[in-house]
Amino acid sequence: MTYPKLSLLAGQDRRLRAGHPWVYSNELKMDAAAKALEPGTPVQLANAAGKAMAVAQFNPHSLIAARVLSRNQDVTIDVAFLERRLGRALRLRERLHDQPYYRLVHAEADGLPGLVIDRFGGALVVQANSAGMDRLKPFLLDAIEQVLETDLVIFKNDSPARTREGLELGVDVVKGEIDGPIQLLENGLTFFADPLNGQKTGWYFDQRENRAFATRLAKGERVLDLFSYGGGFGITALAAGASEALAIDRSEGALALAKMAAEQNGVDDRLTLAREEGFAALERLAGEKQRFGLVVADPPSFVKSKRELKSGLKGYRKLARAAASLVRPEGCLMIASCSHNVPIDQFRDEARKGLSDAGRGGRLLHQSGASADHPSHPMLPESAYLKCLVYMLD
Ligand code: SAH
Repeated sequence: MTYPKLSLLAGQDRRLRAGHPWVYSNELKMDAAAKALEPGTPVQLANAAGKAMAVAQFNPHSLIAARVLSRNQDVTIDVAFLERRLGRALRLRERLHDQPYYRLVHAEADGLPGLVIDRFGGALVVQANSAGMDRLKPFLLDAIEQVLETDLVIFKNDSPARTREGLELGVDVVKGEIDGPIQLLENGLTFFADPLNGQKTGWYFDQRENRAFATRLAKGERVLDLFSYGGGFGITALAAGASEALAIDRSEGALALAKMAAEQNGVDDRLTLAREEGFAALERLAGEKQRFGLVVADPPSFVKSKRELKSGLKGYRKLARAAASLVRPEGCLMIASCSHNVPIDQFRDEARKGLSDAGRGGRLLHQSGASADHPSHPMLPESAYLKCLVYMLD
């Protein structure tokens, strides 16, 4: 298939040659013909000398103007192409997991830029976060049917990334029916996700391995699960023998999911749920002189854009200080950041300063990222967005 040709400006092809999957709008020759292309159109990228380099999806209205689909110049972007990429993504997940509950597609890292798919058994929750992927929606449905058996497919197209691509927001059940939360299995436990009204795709699969790690420290302990969403950390800790857990979130829907999961796993008698603002809750618990053997603080992103870096870093420092103050001597603190814009070194620095503000020394036990079903693209270090630190405090 021949696609419209788009030229990079002279000297702007170095990153692309090195394997980077994006070209920014100021690196392309944006003539009238380019600007007239429909958002999401497949294009042939060429360097300034005219040498073909990649097939990409183009969006003239986005800062990330081109997202590479293939280095093979002869590729056709059709159902068969998507089937091959989905099949490759599925093979990795089937090697990693023996149960069908995971992130099936993680965007650029899986060769499907802008596309996220989470799998809950026969239910798939899809987020098409780029104009290119949005345009491929009909192909994508056909490809999914070729690769997997599904009974429910939802396009949860409500992420802010779509606004940056000039796309509309909305949730569309394209196959099957859904009338409430759906079940998933994780670390031997049952949880509930709400793909229609919940956050992101309905579940944070990225913390699966960190939940398993944290619970090794939870036996016999009081646990605080701050920013709990559906209770992933707290309930896993209870199942692993924590004496009691307190899950705090400001979202009523999130706490309802946690309640269902606690009942399903038979730990509801040891779980307390509180609808509260995170920092206010930390202050209240400190005032009550409450202490925990494990505090998990997994907040929403504090740095949603580079502009927010300074204030966001301060937020992480403040969170580390307040959370550490609630940890008993020789208790543990797990603190996480899901901000793309905060590199791990900077996050660790802020956590260290926060511990010091709280007058607490300690040992860093564990440093990790997202579970392996969320691979990152080697050329996009910011796609390794999740950072998780576990300390034992003196
Ligand atoms: N720890 C969770 C994921 C947390 S996502 C897990 O393991 O699945 C972040 C959560 O913080 C969301 O559930 C959101 O509702 C909640 N949240 C966002 N802002 C908050 C605030 N200011 N106070 C309390 N909770 C907040």
